[in-house]
Amino acid sequence: MTDFDFLTDVVDSSKVDYGEGPREEHSADWASELIGAGVTPDAVVTPTSTEDVSRVLEACDSRGVPVTPYAAGTALEGHVVPVERGVSLDTTEMDSVVDVRPDDFQVDVQPGVIGTDVDDAVERHGLFYPPLPSSGGISTIGGMIATDAGGMQTVKYGKIGDWVVGLECVLADGSVVRCGGRAEKSSSGYNLKDMVVGSEGTLAVVTEATLRLKGIPDEIRGARALFPDIDSAADAVSDAVRSEVDVAKIELIDDVAARMANEYLGTDLPDTPMVFLEFHANHGVEREVEFAEAVFRQHDVDEFKTASRERMEDLWEIRSELGFAVRSYDPSLHPVQAGDVAVPISRYPEMVKEIKRLGDEYDVLVPVFGHAGDGNVHYAPMADPDDQDQYQRAVEVYERAVERALDLGGTATAEHGIGRGKRHYLEREHGAEAVDVMRRIKDALDPNGTLNPGKVLPDED
Ligand SMILES: Cc1cc2nc3c(=O)[nH]c(=O)nc-3n(C[C@H](O)[C@H](O)[C@H](O)COP(=O)(O)OP(=O)(O)OC[C@H]3O[C@@H](n4cnc5c(N)ncnc54)[C@H](O)[C@@H]3O)c2cc1C
Repeated sequence: MTDFDFLTDVVDSSKVDYGEGPREEHSADWASELIGAGVTPDAVVTPTSTEDVSRVLEACDSRGVPVTPYAAGTALEGHVVPVERGVSLDTTEMDSVVDVRPDDFQVDVQPGVIGTDVDDAVERHGLFYPPLPSSGGISTIGGMIATDAGGMQTVKYGKIGDWVVGLECVLADGSVVRCGGRAEKSSSGYNLKDMVVGSEGTLAVVTEATLRLKGIPDEIRGARALFPDIDSAADAVSDAVRSEVDVAKIELIDDVAARMANEYLGTDLPDTPMVFLEFHANHGVEREVEFAEAVFRQHDVDEFKTASRERMEDLWEIRSELGFAVRSYDPSLHPVQAGDVAVPISRYPEMVKEIKRLGDEYDVLVPVFGHAGDGNVHYAPMADPDDQDQYQRAVEVYERAVERALDLGGTATAEHGIGRGKRHYLEREHGAEAVDVMRRIKDALDPNGTLNPGKVLPDED
């Protein structure tokens, strides 16, 4: 008998695992060494229904046992790494597409559904789910809702939270709550749905979601633009967005990131900063492409080439693989952490230049890329963890870039979330009063503090 045998009283024993292997697997995500190691959970529970989730949460809460919701584990800030042992609640078996309602442009899914599986389920109706992150093929809808993920198409369509109509959730004490509904708009009551979106498993466990869908556009065009330097590339993006060029994707990739992609994928991207673009329309898409090119011509673009559908898919594949390319570039160099700042679009060029300048000042290799149209910069200062001096310099670059983003009116995290890694920026970004309100919400919904403790909110001392 272990202390956790109560779990098999509330769910079938096949759903509870005390084995070392699964417990170890559930003690890590994609976060770097900088976040620090967490602890191994005492048990992994894999529910298959809302009732399972409710029973497990109620049983754990009444015993003061912490529960860390865990989906695909692709979060980048230590979100799913337990800090107080307890139960890792693995939602990946709740992976059904429950109901597609094409006439309403809606789909109901369980939280463990992989993002691109939503597209696969609705494509035959001429529909798609626009806000998927670059990790859409390896991460789940529950994880995306919990982090309010964004993606390459966020510049046109918005974030995950903008495409959630309703949620079924389980609170820490096991009560099942519906937030939102099926109406496309509603002004009824407090907006609980949007409070759960982005709450990183600290307020509730999502057990079902109603998602909004969109018709696949009739016309899709792609383009690639090459620039002589990063400054012109960043200026061009900022100008294009402020000129309201109607882009569906606009991604910047600097020469360092392009080199890493070439090494990892065997591609032949030129050794220069570049921007990948995609345009969606039901008519007149060529005019938008011409408009973008005209704006880019004012910023010394060296080459602006439209891409065939096939070539464009290759470019997006390269972009989606960049996270892997950065990690694989040099076995002795690790990214100290995945930077995810965003600033108002008029300050975007300044932010990009500052990160490159910091890399030069500290003599650290820093690939820069990201969802440029949202003012979102991903950057990954690289260092050898055994070289303490280099590692510290890379950490300085990482942290000074966040500080600068906040100075420019931006955010420490545009889409990855706070997790454990960015808690110390929360008060600086929102103010002590706002963080106090967040604490009161947490206390009201989870008075025993059992849901994903040690995440989002900074320690009180
Ligand atoms: C290569 C790569 C590329 C990436 N690209 C992007 C990108 O473009 N945009 C972006 O936003 N992010 C990106 N990410 C980060 C990550 O993929 C996203 O945050 C994703 O949404 C996490 O989903 P997941 O299923 O892996 O969730 P997990 O990592 O398992 O969990 C994430 C958080 O959600 C909570 N959670 C999980 N399921 C539930 C549930 N049912 N109810 C309540 N809480 C829950 C967990 O407790 C945790 O706090 C990338 C990561 C990688 C590795």
